[in-house]
Amino acid sequence: MKIAFHGADQGVTGSCHLLECAGKRILVDCGMYQGGRELSEENAEPFGFDPASIDYLLLTHAHLDHCGRIPLLVKRGFQGEIITTAASVELARLVMLDAAGLQEEEARYQNRKLRRKAGKHRAAIEPLYTTLDALNSLEFFGRHALYDKPIDIAPGIRATFIDAGHILGSAAIDLRLEENGRKHRILFSGDLGNSGRAILRDPTPPPAVDTVVMETTYGDRLHKQLRPSIEELYDAVNRTVGRGGNVIIPTFALERAQEILYYLREGVERGGIDHYLNVFLDSPMAISATEIFRHHPECYNGKTLKLSMDGDDPFSLPGLHFTRETAESMAINQIDGGAIIMAGSGMCTGGRVRHHLKHNIWNRRNSVIFVGYAARGTLARRIIDGAKKIRIFGEEFPVNAEIYTIGGFSAHADQAELLRWHGQTGHPGTTFLVHGDPDAMRTFSQKLTHTRVIMPEQGEVHTLGYSPP
Ligand SMILES: [Zn+2]
Ligand SMILES: [Zn+2]
Repeated sequence: MKIAFHGADQGVTGSCHLLECAGKRILVDCGMYQGGRELSEENAEPFGFDPASIDYLLLTHAHLDHCGRIPLLVKRGFQGEIITTAASVELARLVMLDAAGLQEEEARYQNRKLRRKAGKHRAAIEPLYTTLDALNSLEFFGRHALYDKPIDIAPGIRATFIDAGHILGSAAIDLRLEENGRKHRILFSGDLGNSGRAILRDPTPPPAVDTVVMETTYGDRLHKQLRPSIEELYDAVNRTVGRGGNVIIPTFALERAQEILYYLREGVERGGIDHYLNVFLDSPMAISATEIFRHHPECYNGKTLKLSMDGDDPFSLPGLHFTRETAESMAINQIDGGAIIMAGSGMCTGGRVRHHLKHNIWNRRNSVIFVGYAARGTLARRIIDGAKKIRIFGEEFPVNAEIYTIGGFSAHADQAELLRWHGQTGHPGTTFLVHGDPDAMRTFSQKLTHTRVIMPEQGEVHTLGYSPP
């Protein structure tokens, strides 16, 4: 029984771990590296194992940094079975197709640039994978996992997906392994959510196990409270709409968009928001993700489930418009005030939100509300950091709109929640920390007691079954 680390080691993205047991090779996640050119170039590198040798891929959830290299894995020879929850199958399809489209677009752009420079005699750049590759990979999705129902993957390997409370369909995966009469229980956290959020249930308390592989994204930090953040959102909306302005919310398509819709609906119903609003969800991907949320009430928490059983749509409010078509999106520019415009991308690095910023950010009446993470070097980060002017599509605009950064909507557990979760795993012999920046990981590791902590490097292999001296 062995585990090898092939991604999200000493870093947040590219999750990929390989288990070997009872003659089978099982991958847990196959995510993409994200953030900056160097990291994205890493996506094209060899996996560190032969994709054709993998029997099973267990997917914790459908974020790009967990499922984004599946089409590449298939393109390079994977023939096994992919097992995940029903909601993750649908979301992963959306996420992989979107990624394929973006890579095709990027390759076309680079090739045009090359052609201008080098004429006809140049080597064409290939996308990492194409839409066709993404579609092909869908054929390998097999059995659906239900929360808390064990699946016998193969003799000696039994997996149970437990709710991770992170995004729709997300799971931690508990594996009971047996090889030559030896038993070992290993738990992969996937990404863990915060407790007390709007749509999803809290993470299910994990079982006691021998080994834990866990994320540490916010291993060194505590989040702001959710309730005050919701109040802050209402306040920002009321102030802006009250003075006749528009609100731009750069939005992540998956989970955050649906949560913001949920809070806006609650605000309108309960009087937290005191104006009639025109709300535009101006992102084809966020619209598709919202449809998928509606298909999966089995993932809702009690309150959201009750709403939907009572015939209410948790993600709808009066004045809500889904604008999928480009022409509809452009028509929003004619609106002079009183509109909430939610558009991607969340970090303003691409997508329709840049058009809306161009039309709104120079006007004092308007506001821009950031509700998610903004990486260094992105347009969102520059605005948050107080830039007086920004460039969009080669034109310069003054930043006159009011800028809000509301921090309490994270989909990730903070240090306290991570510690609480780990505390329920019953003093595992070994804890591997992954999916975190080295500083966050080190800080978190100092908080763990009664366990051997390892922060593996890329390519490290460990034998399972270590017993503390
Ligand atoms: Zn995630
Ligand atoms: Zn992740």
